[in-house]
Amino acid sequence: MADTATKELTTQEIDTMVDQLLADFPPATTEPRVFFGEQFDRGLAWVHFEPGHGGLGGSPSLTGHVARRLAEAGAPNAAMHNVIGHGMCAPTIAVHGTEEQKAKYLRPLFTGEEVWCQLFSEPGAGSDVAGLATRAVRDGDEWILNGQKVWTTLAHMARYGLILARTDPDAPKHRGITAFLVDMHAPGVEVRPLYQATGEAEFNECFFTDVRVPDADRLGEVGNGWGVGITTLMNERVSIGGQTPPRGSGPIAFTIDQYKKRYGTSSSAEAMVARDKVMELWVEGEATRLTNLRASQNRKAGTPGPEGSVAKLAYAELNQKIYSLAVDLMGPEGMLYSSDYPLVRPTYATQGTPDLQKSFIRVQANSIEGGTSVIMRNILAERVLGLPGDVRNDKDVAWKDIPRS
Ligand SMILES: Cc1cc2nc3c(=O)[nH]c(=O)nc-3n(C[C@H](O)[C@H](O)[C@H](O)COP(=O)(O)OP(=O)(O)OC[C@H]3O[C@@H](n4cnc5c(N)ncnc54)[C@H](O)[C@@H]3O)c2cc1C
Repeated sequence: MADTATKELTTQEIDTMVDQLLADFPPATTEPRVFFGEQFDRGLAWVHFEPGHGGLGGSPSLTGHVARRLAEAGAPNAAMHNVIGHGMCAPTIAVHGTEEQKAKYLRPLFTGEEVWCQLFSEPGAGSDVAGLATRAVRDGDEWILNGQKVWTTLAHMARYGLILARTDPDAPKHRGITAFLVDMHAPGVEVRPLYQATGEAEFNECFFTDVRVPDADRLGEVGNGWGVGITTLMNERVSIGGQTPPRGSGPIAFTIDQYKKRYGTSSSAEAMVARDKVMELWVEGEATRLTNLRASQNRKAGTPGPEGSVAKLAYAELNQKIYSLAVDLMGPEGMLYSSDYPLVRPTYATQGTPDLQKSFIRVQANSIEGGTSVIMRNILAERVLGLPGDVRNDKDVAWKDIPRS
């Protein structure tokens, strides 16, 4: 999916194709999976992917355009039940996968027949994911995986995972890693729930004991796992922070509803102060949305740049401010949890819902998941502003010689 593959498809051409899809398969009367399959086969899944693999070789901004058009028409959202697959695994397979891997994995991933998870973080390697310790050792045409991953969103639903493992402990940490596509139903894979503050276990810890992975499921070259992982992480940041929903929709709309519930048309001093706060965040949200729209129009097919990390930082901070104001507007009721706090394992990960108290708790993770806000600021400082880099004194040391607890 090199930049040179980008074809100048126009929005009008795409609109005609979307109209045809909606006419041939009216969302109201079509099974979602059938609709998704047609969307993929017509190249309207990810317009910027290659033809034959869910795309048409167009600009990434057209992919967002299709999503908005389909949402307006009431079509089902393919990404919703496979958020990690859509946001991170598919774009990584599109860039680094072999033809066989793309043909085998992308369609069932898009339709949701096969849910995916991302197995990067470990108990000793989160922000410093390049320090990971899960090992993969070659055995003929297979690799044998051993280790532990953590915070793995939707691993309990996943059929496949994109995993980074250490294949050369003698190399410096960034250079001894290889990426694999791992069958989460293979013998030796164990997935245990981890409950979040919301009472839900969206994520898990995953244990790999002598799990055999065919070499055909290696993603990219041996030792280039860091390059593969960067593609995933950059896409993750765009997927979390780079959204371009309709103006004034989502969390800010729920907050305005809450304002109206509490203050109606009152012009009391208290209402006016609250109104100012709501408007301030509405404006910040709109500025973020327009910045994301502009970034998506400038984005070329391939791996997104550091602008995704800046968007992710802005999104995390804004979302937390909006929900904090929303629960403030609820008054004392904002302190009550909205459900009976069931310990459940959801079938999909949701964020930013009208359930204000639960969302307030959930969005606290926004500044951790997909890279912490501190790390996003490091990227902004180094890669956008050109400031001196963070201290990295283990960069050229063999991974096996780096002290760890
Ligand atoms: C809801 C949620 C879902 C997630 N889903 C997934 C998933 O599906 N797959 C996956 O692989 N991971 C997932 N993660 C893990 C996530 O990517 C990590 O939690 C994150 O990268 C931080 O790593 P850590 O938790 O190990 O914290 P650490 O890296 O140990 O960081 C601890 C603190 O130190 C700070 N810090 C670390 N390094 C520096 C530095 N160089 N300079 C300054 N400060 C620093 C951090 O900002 C943080 O405040 C998920 C996390 C959450 C919360």
